[in-house]
Amino acid sequence: MNLWKTYHNARSVQDALQALNTAPGDVNLIAGGTDLLLDLQQGRHAPVHTLVDVTAIPEMTALEIRSGELFIGAAVPHSRITQSELVCQHAAALATACGLIGGPQVRNTATLGGNVAHALPAADGTIALVALDAQAVIASSSGTRRVPMEELFLGPGQSALEPRRELLVGFYQPLKGMHQASAFKRVMRPQGVAIAILNAAVWLQREGDTIAAARIAMGPSGPVPRRLRQAEETLRGQVFGTAAIQAGIEAVQAEASFRTSRHRATKEYRHQMAGVLLEDTLNMAWQSAGITGE
Ligand SMILES: Cc1cc2nc3c(=O)[nH]c(=O)nc-3n(C[C@H](O)[C@H](O)[C@H](O)COP(=O)(O)OP(=O)(O)OC[C@H]3O[C@@H](n4cnc5c(N)ncnc54)[C@H](O)[C@@H]3O)c2cc1C
Repeated sequence: MNLWKTYHNARSVQDALQALNTAPGDVNLIAGGTDLLLDLQQGRHAPVHTLVDVTAIPEMTALEIRSGELFIGAAVPHSRITQSELVCQHAAALATACGLIGGPQVRNTATLGGNVAHALPAADGTIALVALDAQAVIASSSGTRRVPMEELFLGPGQSALEPRRELLVGFYQPLKGMHQASAFKRVMRPQGVAIAILNAAVWLQREGDTIAAARIAMGPSGPVPRRLRQAEETLRGQVFGTAAIQAGIEAVQAEASFRTSRHRATKEYRHQMAGVLLEDTLNMAWQSAGITGE
């Protein structure tokens, strides 16, 4: 059976939106296809009439500084993100996360927009974007709008995008300021599954020996990618050290709702590892905020 009938290579955001709106049957956007093609092939997604490919749209493959913010197009592949000096400088957590996704072949093909739109609560690029306070640019026939990352998700595998009307154009992130840094780390089975057992992204700002501000995202810590705001509040204003880290760990463990998943880990393991990941990412971000923030 054919998995699709028509393959449309969109040349602009408007062209892609028009193809979405006017396709005569079921229609899907496709970027790298590393999630969607497997879902189609393995029967988790019904065959579609039209696939609309967004990987040749110039606006969606841009990676640059725009008016004091870092812009990454939704169709930029992970390998380009992880190699980008701009991303390494301003969004280290994202550079690390994208560099860990799949293997080289997946990273050369799979995109940041596909990672986000697939809406899994522990998608690596997504968790980094959440901690980096990124905003998504969404286009529809009525124009474009910017939305905070956490508002993009309704449930596991379910994004808030309207399937035939909207697409992700890209992501804006604040540039790294003085004494700010971010870090990402994950626990992963060596093979067989594509998504981390647990991942964590941390952004923080140093002020002398104190944590002036922190953002923490951990996945899967609930049904959607999210920040752990009580833990962030716990860390804010604390002198960095063992006591602060321990308080942060207890806050994360109280706030996150870990669950047992058949193929990956028990909730007890995740609860335990959350402490290890938080300590490691906090230490990494704290040290780079001291070195690179001068
Ligand atoms: C072997 C393997 C290993 C993997 N390892 C990891 C891993 O370590 N970590 C991880 O997080 N993921 C992993 N993945 C999952 C996957 O590669 C990533 O989620 C990837 O970023 C998906 O991007 P894509 O461009 O291939 O998306 P696609 O498969 O093209 O699309 C995925 C979904 O997003 C929609 N979509 C795509 N682009 C847009 C857009 N611009 N706007 C709106 N909707 C859009 C599509 O319609 C589809 O529903 C792995 C996958 C494989 C096959």
